[in-house]
Amino acid sequence: MERLMQVYRTVSEFRAFRSAVQGTLGFVPTMGYLHEGHLSLVKAASLENDLVVASIFVNPMQFNSTADLAAYPRDEKRDLSLFREMGVASVFVPSAEEMYPPRFQTYVQVEKMTQKLEGEYRPGHFRGVATVVAKLLNIVQPTRAYFGQKDAQQVAVIKQMVQDLNLPVEIGVCPTVREADGLAMSSRNVRLSPEERKAAVVLHKALAAAKAAFHRGEREPMRLHEMMLQVLHQEPLARVEYVSINDAVTLEPVITPTASPLLVSMAVFIGEIRLIDNMILV
Ligand code: AMP
Repeated sequence: MERLMQVYRTVSEFRAFRSAVQGTLGFVPTMGYLHEGHLSLVKAASLENDLVVASIFVNPMQFNSTADLAAYPRDEKRDLSLFREMGVASVFVPSAEEMYPPRFQTYVQVEKMTQKLEGEYRPGHFRGVATVVAKLLNIVQPTRAYFGQKDAQQVAVIKQMVQDLNLPVEIGVCPTVREADGLAMSSRNVRLSPEERKAAVVLHKALAAAKAAFHRGEREPMRLHEMMLQVLHQEPLARVEYVSINDAVTLEPVITPTASPLLVSMAVFIGEIRLIDNMILV
């Protein structure tokens, strides 16, 4: 028989639940509209903890435009039933007002590593991410919190914040879950037209080309970069925002061959939809 899953919409209700929890607690924060990527985080959390808590919160603070926020897909009923099937103990689903009441004025800013990559094209995005994740960690007080490698810079920023602020939590990172053709799963993918959906595979194709070259011994970042642009430019529906090669830990750009793991990442518009993807080359 399935355990009854609780849904809490206020911090005080959630805290009452939390105070009664014994043993280890795994936490999976999401913006909802769940797919296999999210569920892989729940699976990892279930394997490594006594109980799993998830959250659904479409965080207004991390969006760069109100149009993008308004267009973000939502289906709370379906999300809750998926979490229930996965054996999640409780789900925290706060409103924007619950998280950011009228006098709210405290923000978390991870400085250096948020200036590049996504941060360069989405000003304020990581301030929103770090602030909401810090709040959620303080509310949920998990033993471990789980994030997807799909959002590589988010992982780096959260790890840095946890280290800098001495937050008492372990960060678990799960591999990117992909569709059969290689497209990284994302809640935004439903906004692609059938034609755009086919074109979207080009991000993975470009990453796969770089990976293959790397494994053949190519270490020159400029050449890997060019190779990926060449693949992307073959797709007429794709508009490249950036393709970048960085140190996987510090996120510093890499311009000469190095022994450190490389983060190869990109943001590409397919029609109106902005997609990101990455791979680590070691
Ligand atoms: P989101 O709901 O998009 O904010 O994502 C919630 C969590 O799921 C984040 O830690 C994401 O990195 C992770 N995630 C999203 N897509 C994927 C994916 N395709 N594979 C693995 N993790 C993912």
